[in-house]
Amino acid sequence: MDAGIPRSPATRVVTTGRPAAEPDAPLNEPVTFASTFHAGGDVGYGRYGNPSWTALESVLGDLEGGRALAFASGLAASSAVMSLLPEGAVVVAPDCAYLGVLDQLRERATQGRLTLRQLPVTDTDGIAAAAKGAAMVWLESPTNPNLDVADIAAAAAAARAAGALTVVDNTFATPLLQRPLELGADVVVHSVTKLLAGHSDVVLGAVVTTDDAVYDRLDAHRRLHGAIPGPMEAYLAVRGLRTLSVRLERAQANATELASRLRAHRSVNVVRYPGFGTMCSIEVAGGAESADAVVAAVGLWVHSTSLGGVESSLERRRRWPTESPTVDESLLRLSVGIEDVEDLWADLSRALDTI
Ligand SMILES: *Cc1c(COP(=O)(O)O)cnc(C)c1O
Repeated sequence: MDAGIPRSPATRVVTTGRPAAEPDAPLNEPVTFASTFHAGGDVGYGRYGNPSWTALESVLGDLEGGRALAFASGLAASSAVMSLLPEGAVVVAPDCAYLGVLDQLRERATQGRLTLRQLPVTDTDGIAAAAKGAAMVWLESPTNPNLDVADIAAAAAAARAAGALTVVDNTFATPLLQRPLELGADVVVHSVTKLLAGHSDVVLGAVVTTDDAVYDRLDAHRRLHGAIPGPMEAYLAVRGLRTLSVRLERAQANATELASRLRAHRSVNVVRYPGFGTMCSIEVAGGAESADAVVAAVGLWVHSTSLGGVESSLERRRRWPTESPTVDESLLRLSVGIEDVEDLWADLSRALDTI
């Protein structure tokens, strides 16, 4: 109908996944609370499908350039992807990444179900060498919480040559800043909980792939094992996604400004900011104790785990016992929101001044 109208990602995040444009049809897909559907259609049952999931999957699939499946959480999505692995498979994974994903891989390794080869995501040559004989190369970029960046194209090419599937956790970049499938990855995983939903009120995950066989296996896994999204969560995620482009623009501008000011603060030893995105990690002088003091001293910044909401939050990551030992004890992970940057700086710099 409107073929020929240019649609960049910032436009499609607003327009994709709408119901057919008919008189009096709602502009956006409403939330459909239903376990039971009249027989004879494509859905069949509430564990197999729901129009509110489909809307979310259309948007994410379109933005990433593949077909999407929504899951109950980011970890339900990563668990489904790991179900693709044959028993005894070799998996190449980062030595630092979201701890829940690494815990899932370690659990399987401890059970003797896979062999794990862990390397820094920045070690492209090492990843390429480790991919030989592996079934899967798992990447996360930028990594949580060290914010290291992988060369996805090079790693995916090496994995493909070795016959391994490349999976990229794209939670921190979002498809507006990085599209791993275009760089040669086979599967993208998201914690929709974070920037995509964006308002700290939803737990949800998704997988996107260009591989139809992988899609079918993940769909079958979701139908059988039941880690399905709630329709309300899917609806809220689409509602949040509509503003992703403007939220990202503002939060990224704030993060860039704060990163440069933090580099000049005497209490900050290291600033980890990849030059894009809304996350910034800092290592503060005086170790864990002074990092905890900063967390206790802020007022506007929220002390909480999770990230990617409109509100700025922070936490010391090593407070979690299974966090990677590659993460410094003094590291504070900052999730930069969309508040006024001067207010954010005033609060954070005052807290840093106390140590
Ligand atoms: C939070 C997070 C996850 C896990 O997602 P949940 O929605 O909390 O299950 C996976 N990967 C990254 C990078 C995350 O930040």
